[in-house]
Order: sequence, then structure tokens, then C-alpha cells
Amino acid sequence: MTIGILGGGQLGRMLALAGYPLGLRFRVLDTYDAAPAGELADLIVAESFAEREALSRFAAGLALVTYEFENVPVDAARFLADRAPVYPPPAALAASQDRLTEKSFFRQLDIPTPHYAAVASQAALGAALAELGTPAVLKTRRLGYDGKGQRIIRHVSDAPAAWEALQSQDCIAEAFVPFDREVSLLAVRGRTGDTAFYPLVENTHHDGILRRSVAPALATPPALQAQAEDYGQRVLAALDYVGVLAIEFFQQGDRLLANEMAPRVHNSGHWTIEGAETSQFENHLRAVAGLPLGSTAPRGQSVMLNLIGTIPERAALLAVPNAHVHLYAKEPRPGRKLGHVTVRSDTADSARALADSLQARL
Ligand code: AMP
Repeated sequence: MTIGILGGGQLGRMLALAGYPLGLRFRVLDTYDAAPAGELADLIVAESFAEREALSRFAAGLALVTYEFENVPVDAARFLADRAPVYPPPAALAASQDRLTEKSFFRQLDIPTPHYAAVASQAALGAALAELGTPAVLKTRRLGYDGKGQRIIRHVSDAPAAWEALQSQDCIAEAFVPFDREVSLLAVRGRTGDTAFYPLVENTHHDGILRRSVAPALATPPALQAQAEDYGQRVLAALDYVGVLAIEFFQQGDRLLANEMAPRVHNSGHWTIEGAETSQFENHLRAVAGLPLGSTAPRGQSVMLNLIGTIPERAALLAVPNAHVHLYAKEPRPGRKLGHVTVRSDTADSARALADSLQARL
């Protein structure tokens, strides 16, 4: 069975790594001829993800198509859906590509979000700030990731500069949430509607980029996990979803506010490779291939650190006990995710000590 993956980045690479033991084969489509997954799968290089000729060549003979990034044009996913089953459903792309559509989708499902307002002009930004107050966060509706395409507005007087910095694109303004912490839920739903949820993950971002994930998130009451799973279940059911879905939340006391979702495997789930009974990558493949889902139970305590911008000496990282190094075969560049390291241990204290000694080497 050959599975097609739209996008040949590190997520596609790790999907392929998880799929080979199951006897699955892979073909990836990317616009970059040195895409990280290309070392592990047939790579079709397209001018763009909308190029019909490349999409047709890609689709030929595939058992199914999935994706590893959410900015695949919805039209391309629909074009492919006429040729092979596409999981997750293209509707999930449409719901997550636009931050405004996404937040209103959460609201329709009665999932709390930060207060927000649509902003299509500088005047609308003024009106939004009058309603939301400051500080606020201005984000482009489309194509923002890793903190790109967003500005914090601390005072109303910062508004014109923020609007210009985002090049007057259609935006969403959000009230700044003084959260206790950020957590994410990784959920998976199979073709027959069976679901499974990983334990909540605690995430630390810096400059909008994920740096560290602690999993399971410490000090998580069962009611908080249940709340996250309830919200996850609503999203999965509403989209008739198949595959792994990630939802990022702000936690304030015992409340969760949904910030965004990703219809794919997610950086905050990389710890599952060593830290869970079944990794998010394997479970995504099991889901889309119509196989039984695997257990999402954690194996002890994990801490995952991203390698961003530069790659430290491999030997120095591997000298830390229980360190599992994953490099993505990408050229170093500031702010770029080049790999990650996970340490796994039996207790939270020992996992933290290992992560601290790893951090000191980054
Ligand atoms: P995003 O691209 O929406 O995931 O935002 C990247 C990061 O910016 C988040 O993980 C938060 O750390 C921060 N952030 C985004 N929106 C808000 C908000 N409304 N309030 C506070 N922090 C935010």
C-alpha cells in the first residue's frame, strides 16, 4: 500500500519512518527538491501545490492521500479526492487555514476561545481594540505559523505600526490572554469513528516558536483532561475527521481556551515516538489506512526540546542519558526547526534533570 503525503518536511519524514515497519510505502509531493522526506520516499517536485499535472502524477496508483502541512490549497485536496481517498477530509483544511474561520468554528461548537474580532482595515483595528482592550494580538488570517504574521499591540498607539507591519492583510485581533500555561491535545480518529487521545502536553514557546514540550503535562487534574477530550471529540465529530488532529489551548485556572488547531501530526506530539505506547505518526497512519488505533498511553515522563537555528554536536546530545536525537536533514537557518531531542524517564523529576542537562548543551 502506497500512501501519498502532501508536503515533504520533517513531519512527512517521520510519518514515513513510522510507516515502514507496518509495510507501508510513501510518495511525497513538495515544491522543494531537497525536501527532508525525499530521503525516505519517492519525491515529486511540483511548481506549486496547485499544479494539476504534478498532482495527477502524484495521485496515480496511491491507496490514499494525507498531508503534513495545513496550507495545502483546499482545491488541490478536492482535486485529489476525485482520484484517491483523502484523509483528513479537505473540510478540515478549510476550517484551519484561516484563523478567523477557525475561531468561529470553535465558537459554533461551544469551545471557548480568546475574545476576538475581524480586522480588515486600520479603522476596524481601532474599533476592535476599543472592544477587546489592550494588550491585544494582531494576526494575519492566513499563512501565519511559528509566530510569523503576528504582532502584540500593547497600547492603542502601537496599532498603526502593527497594521503596517502585517502589510494591511486581512487580520484577526485577539485579546491577549494572560494564560497560566499553554497545553495541546493530540487526538486521533479512525475511519470507523473510533477515537483516542494522548495526555495533555505542556508547551513553552519563545518568539512564537515551540521550544519545549513536557508530556504528560504535570499537575493536570482529570477534569482538565476530560474537558480537552470533550472539545477534541466535538471537533473530530463535526469534521467527520480521520487521522491525528492537534488543538492548542491556553490554560487559565481550570479553563481551556482554544487558540488553534492543526489537521495533522504536530510538533507538540514528537515526544510520542519514545514516550507513548504508539507514536502520533503511527497512529495517524493506522487511522488513515483503516487499521485499528494503537494505545495512546504514556511511557513514563517525556520532555522534548526543539533544535532551532543551529544543530549542536550530535555526540554532546547523545551523551545525555535517555536522549533520543532526531535530525531532519535541513540546512541550518535562524529560526528554523532542524531537529528535536526527547528524553524519557520514569519520574517527572528525573526527566526534568535530564532535560536541564540537555538544555545546557543546546
Ligand atoms: P499562534 O501562531 O496563534 O499559535 O501563536 C503563537 C504563540 O503566540 C502562542 O503559542 C502564544 O504563546 C502566543 N499567543 C498567540 N495568541 C495569543 C493570545 N491571544 N494571548 C496570549 N498569547 C498569545
